[in-house]
Amino acid sequence: QSKQLGQTISRYDAEEYAVELTAMTLEAELRQAFINRQLVLAFQPLVHARSGSLKAVEALLRWTHPQRGAISPQVFIALAEQSDLILDIGGWVLREACQQAAAWPGGPVQVSVNVSARQFESPRLKEDVLNALLVSGLPAHLLELELTENMLMTSGRDVVDVLEQLKALNVRLALDDFGTGYSSLAYLNRFPLDVLKIDRSFIQGLGLETYGQKNLAIVRSTIALAHELGIEVVAEGVETGLQREILVALGCDLLQGYFFSAPMPLEKAVTWRFGSGP
Ligand code: C2E
Ligand code: CA
Ligand code: CA
Ligand code: CA
Repeated sequence: QSKQLGQTISRYDAEEYAVELTAMTLEAELRQAFINRQLVLAFQPLVHARSGSLKAVEALLRWTHPQRGAISPQVFIALAEQSDLILDIGGWVLREACQQAAAWPGGPVQVSVNVSARQFESPRLKEDVLNALLVSGLPAHLLELELTENMLMTSGRDVVDVLEQLKALNVRLALDDFGTGYSSLAYLNRFPLDVLKIDRSFIQGLGLETYGQKNLAIVRSTIALAHELGIEVVAEGVETGLQREILVALGCDLLQGYFFSAPMPLEKAVTWRFGSGP
């Protein structure tokens, strides 16, 4: 099936080409949106499991395209990750998150910022973190960097060294999406982690008959292991009161999810309290 250049291309090639073209257009639009300051941060509460009181907020990027509407961060972050654009966006997210956390009404709040794989590979990360802390005046212990297993396991850098350099700044390090990547219990010991975030896929089935029992076993032993290593545990994607009850009983430290609140714009997030209405 040789291709006749300049004439017809297969339906498959045409579709692939269209997908690439769309991606190129979207990337150009993302660059423009970033320059025009059309990216904003939303904030989702992390609460103490028992009391429901606010412990911290996670900063999550939002892009509302003027014509296409809201675009998922999974889509536009993946696009940004294909070039150094992610470094500029990531640096901005760090500064913006620290500034907003430092200016939180009632006093500075702890903030978690997601770090992308390409950012983790770049020596700029450390400078960007330092710069964000200096410019905002946010105490370093109130900044938490969220890293994923996959980025640590596939990194070309000396991961322990990078993590120790970041720890030396006195920021907190969290392992995001725990259980979804190249999980290896061995590195929990080697890496200087403060927090482990159990992925929502393990939380979802909790309390259900079918595979809930297996998830329960996984979540219970993850919490026990983390605690023995002196690591705090966050459950992600808590959507029901039953899930919360189970996680409290299992001794999970912190909870995050729609049961408490979806990510909110800054204006709403700063006055949020669990139970104070929608
Ligand atoms: P993530 O870091 O795992 O963030 C949690 C995602 O789960 C968020 O999706 C959040 O809105 C969603 N979520 C929270 N609670 C619940 C729940 O109870 N149920 C369900 N079904 N979902 C819940 P979002 O905001 O769409 O972000 C998706 C992903 O995009 C993030 O996953 C993160 O990997 C990436 N991302 C978002 N903002 C940034 C950023 O500033 N930098 C980087 N590098 N990645 C980001
Ligand atoms: Ca995260
Ligand atoms: Ca996560
Ligand atoms: Ca995720």
